[in-house]
Amino acid sequence: MAQQGIRRLIVVGGGTAGWLAASHLARKFRVNQHPTISVTLVESPNIPTIGVGEGTVPTMRQTLHWLGIRETDFIRQCDVTFKQSIKFIDWLRPPAGGQSHAYHHLFDYPAIQGLDPTPYWCQDPGGTPYADAVSVQAHLCEQGLGPKTLMHPEFGGATAYAYHLDAAKFSALLTDHAVNQLGVHHVLAEVTEVVADGNGGIAAIVTDRAGTLEGDLFVDCTGFSALLAEQTLKVPFIDKSDVLFVDSALAIQVPYERADAPIPCHTLSTATHSGWIWDIGLTERRGVGHVYSSRHCSDEEAERVLRAYLGPVAEGLSCRKIAMKVGYRERAWQGNCVAIGLSGGFVEPLEATGLLVFDLTARMLAEMLPGQREAMPAVAERFNQRVRHSWDRVIDFIKLHYVLSQREDSAFWRDNRAPESIPQSLKDNLAYWQQQQPSGYDFASNLSIFNLENYLYVLYGMEFDTEVCAERLDQGEAARQKMAQLAQQAERLASQLLPHRQLLERIRQHGLQ
Ligand code: FAD
Repeated sequence: MAQQGIRRLIVVGGGTAGWLAASHLARKFRVNQHPTISVTLVESPNIPTIGVGEGTVPTMRQTLHWLGIRETDFIRQCDVTFKQSIKFIDWLRPPAGGQSHAYHHLFDYPAIQGLDPTPYWCQDPGGTPYADAVSVQAHLCEQGLGPKTLMHPEFGGATAYAYHLDAAKFSALLTDHAVNQLGVHHVLAEVTEVVADGNGGIAAIVTDRAGTLEGDLFVDCTGFSALLAEQTLKVPFIDKSDVLFVDSALAIQVPYERADAPIPCHTLSTATHSGWIWDIGLTERRGVGHVYSSRHCSDEEAERVLRAYLGPVAEGLSCRKIAMKVGYRERAWQGNCVAIGLSGGFVEPLEATGLLVFDLTARMLAEMLPGQREAMPAVAERFNQRVRHSWDRVIDFIKLHYVLSQREDSAFWRDNRAPESIPQSLKDNLAYWQQQQPSGYDFASNLSIFNLENYLYVLYGMEFDTEVCAERLDQGEAARQKMAQLAQQAERLASQLLPHRQLLERIRQHGLQ
């Protein structure tokens, strides 16, 4: 029997997820050089994209490099700023007497090569925050310095970094690059009907102005509506709102009060009584939003809290309400259809997991896509296991921030620590880490998304207690020296780096090497 080749790849949806998926497929198969495989992206001119998603993680640097997008162009065209950390404010306890608790989840790997200072710090923090004991990066953030100089090459820096970006401008850049450099065929039309193939997959899509398009693979990037995966193939959605309660967002774009206002080089995440507020500085404006649990807070109250946070600068500005579906699709890949983006799953944007997971799954699809349709079921099964694993680990990590909180000031925070809302895998890890310091052996898969360093920053940033065995700590003097040297290193590095806004202006003007 003749085998059925997979050559016509159709992506439905032109949000960030759709353009990332189309770009990864086109790049992998070099469709601009091998026209036997085609990648077509169909996007409705009438249905808007979600238009938010301003925070990323460091893997975005590899993605841009792999796709062939220059860092200088990206910085110039997408109002990009650098991100070296997320600073969590008031997460451990509510502010009291003018005092706030804050800690950094840094991108720089803790200085644990050679001698790991963590157990020594656990034994005696000596009043030093964990992040300061293991990295110079929090000092740089607090001084408002950028992570690189003009002498660093594209995507390289003095410290690890990611970006903040304007979501609409990023979509436009991806569109231009995918169409003009990678050979993606762009169709502006609305899908009005999806034709099932009778085998649990999809045969074709019918559009309002570009006729019927048949394909061998369909990627559903239609956002929360999940037109192919949910509305046509009825793949169930695993709801996780019993673990992560935040399901609503109010987003607002805020102008700077002065053209030369300093831009933080980290995301600010400030806990509120029923959720938290993100505050991201782009070059031209701030993107600010309050995400909250609709079970614990009304929209009116959430808006009042957001406006109180912003103060007079928010007067006259309107904010946009976004409802969020929390959870993920039981099978991301069903038949010949793969759901990537909001159609495949989503959790609150606390650790910028949206673009991270969508980018990772798009790249995984491009790497794993078999040549023949007959091989799809086996590949799909493995792909689905990996994607579910990633989502479950993301959910554990996000929930961690709530479980470690000592806040008692509202039902939202108390409910978040109810044992029945905490995944067993997270409970097991926390019990284990009370006895044993987290190590690389606890993170067996590179698809765990969040790994040792991420957990260390959050656990010890939030005063988690690990019992350290004093008998094993025989290099105390060396560890203390190492921690003390970090302060000097921070000073030295700081003297070479520019204030963040100034660095961005120079890059926009002169470009990177
Ligand atoms: P969408 O942007 O909704 O795009 C859907 C596309 O499908 C559109 O092009 C639409 O035209 C098309 N479409 C729909 N129906 C049809 C049809 N019938 N025919 C043709 N086309 C159709 N991610 C991060 O990484 N960092 C963050 O800081 C972050 N913050 C967020 C904050 C909030 C409040 C929310 C809700 C999300 C956030 N995200 C964040 C996630 C981010 O928004 C998404 O990663 C990203 O925008 C991808 O969305 P999407 O492409 O899946 O869907």
